[in-house]
Amino acid sequence: MAEYDAIVIGAGQAGPSLAFRLAASGRRVAMIERNKAGGTCVNTGCTPTKTLVASARVAQLARRAAEYGVVLAGEVGIDWPRVRARMEGIVARSRDGLAQSLATTENIAFLHGHARFTGPHRVAVDDQTLTAPWIFLDVGGRAAAPPIPGLETVRWLSNSDLLRLDALPRHLAIIGGSYIGLEFAQIFRRFGAMVTVVELAPRLIPREDEEVSAAVQALLEAEGVTVHCGAKGLALAPAGEAVAVRIEGVPEIQASHLLLATGRRPNTDDLGLEAAGIARDARGYITVDDALETSQPGIWALGDCNGRGAFTHTAYNDYEIVAANLLDGERRRVTDRLPCYALFTDPPLGRFGMTETETEARAAGHRLLVGRRPMTRVNRAVEKGETQGFIKIVVDAQTHRILGAAILGVEGDEAIHGLLDLAHAGAPAPVMQRAVHIHPTVSELIPTVMGDLQPA
Ligand SMILES: Cc1cc2nc3c(=O)[nH]c(=O)nc-3n(C[C@H](O)[C@H](O)[C@H](O)COP(=O)(O)OP(=O)(O)OC[C@H]3O[C@@H](n4cnc5c(N)ncnc54)[C@H](O)[C@@H]3O)c2cc1C
Repeated sequence: MAEYDAIVIGAGQAGPSLAFRLAASGRRVAMIERNKAGGTCVNTGCTPTKTLVASARVAQLARRAAEYGVVLAGEVGIDWPRVRARMEGIVARSRDGLAQSLATTENIAFLHGHARFTGPHRVAVDDQTLTAPWIFLDVGGRAAAPPIPGLETVRWLSNSDLLRLDALPRHLAIIGGSYIGLEFAQIFRRFGAMVTVVELAPRLIPREDEEVSAAVQALLEAEGVTVHCGAKGLALAPAGEAVAVRIEGVPEIQASHLLLATGRRPNTDDLGLEAAGIARDARGYITVDDALETSQPGIWALGDCNGRGAFTHTAYNDYEIVAANLLDGERRRVTDRLPCYALFTDPPLGRFGMTETETEARAAGHRLLVGRRPMTRVNRAVEKGETQGFIKIVVDAQTHRILGAAILGVEGDEAIHGLLDLAHAGAPAPVMQRAVHIHPTVSELIPTVMGDLQPA
């Protein structure tokens, strides 16, 4: 049995950073990965999709070139093999750089294989058995496929499959109108495909407030994406080379390709957690305490598999919490972080915290003040010719603490950070009113919105 000071399972967004820190502290670390270094984010998630968002944005701007007085000869075309090659090049650089660092860092044994517990502190990888007093799980998740009638009779794609297509779809149907589905909807529409989004909930991205959902739907529809919300009686069937998507009250949709973007499930079913006495919740997420330790002392779960976040930045923050607590003598907690994220449509949605209509805000007893400004009244957006969306800030009427914000608009994914930092610091909203922001930027209007809060 090979003995280590620490075993890290999964080279996603928390594991490698932790392995490097542990190794730098002189500990001998086994880092185990069954697939590709970098995990979902680098290989099939954030990195490839954001390269596609960039290509799609260039295509869209090129189509609008004349509005800016720019003359382009001929139609805008998409060279999918070159789009893919650009994506794959950027992904490979990131993945290979990480794999190389893991393979060459002193004190790290980078092992390739599927890890499975055979006891509380015993892990099998192929025919090897490893043991360590500290074990860290960063096993991530994968696309979930819900039980849709007829699903087993048709060819469907996951987000990973979609990135490997040899040719662009003629008509892409997407089941699931949430973050992943909507990014792909806009990308492939801008690449020239017909796109139909089918969502069972009454509106897109149902976790957002209605104003945000409606605005995102409107901007996608303006580009020619067809959206069916509140879909009833969804069923699938083969139709020659195509897939027939059937919904009550809607003519049958014949799609050349079908993407399932219906959520994710954790990679915890084949990890032997029972052998280690590690508890999972009903949805399969590993149960952790506020310091991310599992029900088995000396074993921690980080990233998507603990159900406490579903983003690269939350996985990385999990690493920071665990490293600070174990190596720096701190007492950091996962509940100290503010939930934040972006939807990387164009324009993007930057978000954190509660929103006006969130029952959470009212249930928590807050009286709300809300500030709003449409992007049509943001100079920089007007100058850029990108005036879709709005800024919306929600403040507690009594304490003036910022409860949440949404910036749907050009640079919304960046501009949100000023507000996020203020909320993180626990500073009251009026603090920002005295800040001087750079003109002309989207952020420059945020103090103005703060000065114009209205009771909700
Ligand atoms: C299409 C898409 C777009 C996304 N875009 C964004 C975005 O823009 N911004 C953002 O913040 N997040 C985004 N995400 C989410 C983000 O990718 C994840 O939150 C992030 O990758 C989670 O990191 P992780 O370390 O928890 O898991 P992962 O990155 O999934 O890594 C887990 C690793 O563990 C390995 N593994 C699993 N089980 C075992 C085992 N038994 N033995 C050995 N190895 C194992 C896996 O092979 C994998 O490499 C996106 C996700 C998708 C699918």
